[in-house]
Amino acid sequence: MTLAGKVALVTGASSGIGAATARKLALEGMIVGLAARRVDRLEELVADITTTGGKVIALPTDVVDPASCKTAVGTLIHHFGQVDVLVNNAGLMPLSNVDSLKVDEWQRMVDVNISGVLNATAAVLPHMMAQQSGHIFNMSSIAGRKVFTGLAVYCATKAAVAAFSDGLRMEIGPKHNIRVTCIQPGAVKSELYEQITDIEYRKQMDDLAASMTFLEGEDIAESILFALKAPERMDVAELFVLPTEQG
Ligand code: NDP
Repeated sequence: MTLAGKVALVTGASSGIGAATARKLALEGMIVGLAARRVDRLEELVADITTTGGKVIALPTDVVDPASCKTAVGTLIHHFGQVDVLVNNAGLMPLSNVDSLKVDEWQRMVDVNISGVLNATAAVLPHMMAQQSGHIFNMSSIAGRKVFTGLAVYCATKAAVAAFSDGLRMEIGPKHNIRVTCIQPGAVKSELYEQITDIEYRKQMDDLAASMTFLEGEDIAESILFALKAPERMDVAELFVLPTEQG
């Protein structure tokens, strides 16, 4: 697949894996829509990528809101006429035990990690179906494959993302020539732990970070490129990408 000139939408592009992916896709000559809520961070990234010759656009977006996702995709279509790649990356991971009853945090995870994926997918699908081409990446996690204490709700959301990815792939691959890749990273250096309000779990994750070398966001971006560059006949349906030191 020739990537130069293709149009991508990356959700959660304001930091971590999403920002690294946006940089990597732009380096390949793709036009990248940067979707997230923190406009200042998006503008910084736009300035940065533009300086190096990349073509990107900031799309202030809350993936929880279906209309916001539609607006982001509508803006891309308006300016560039197509949307070829969606990276469903926005997500939250505030760890806590279930008996702490941090129900607001549970709801937030369900809203962003599951509904956010569905909303952005619904926004791009009509265009990809009309084009009879496209590639959707869904960011699940190692936590979508196995369960960890403190992560019951997060694991449930990431297992949901994995299930949705596979069902989506089965339905839209054969019918609409749209590829779907579910990515399940292990520990990646990012801002993800900053939302942990439980002091014990925050310390546990900081200790984990000190105990091994985490992946960098660009490692996940590289995995995305691998799947994107595969021949059109080939759908890399799953990618399980771990730090070498993670057991
Ligand atoms: P970050 O916290 O650095 O990035 C999360 C991104 O999600 C931010 O850009 C944030 O932007 C965005 N986001 C959150 N809520 C919304 C919303 N309502 N609408 C739009 N964007 C939103 O963490 P990571 O880069 O690590 O996380 C990216 C993805 O990777 C997540 O889905 C995470 O679950 C997954 N993952 C991460 C792993 C890790 O170890 N880091 C391991 C496995 C999976 P903003 O606040 O500006 O809206």
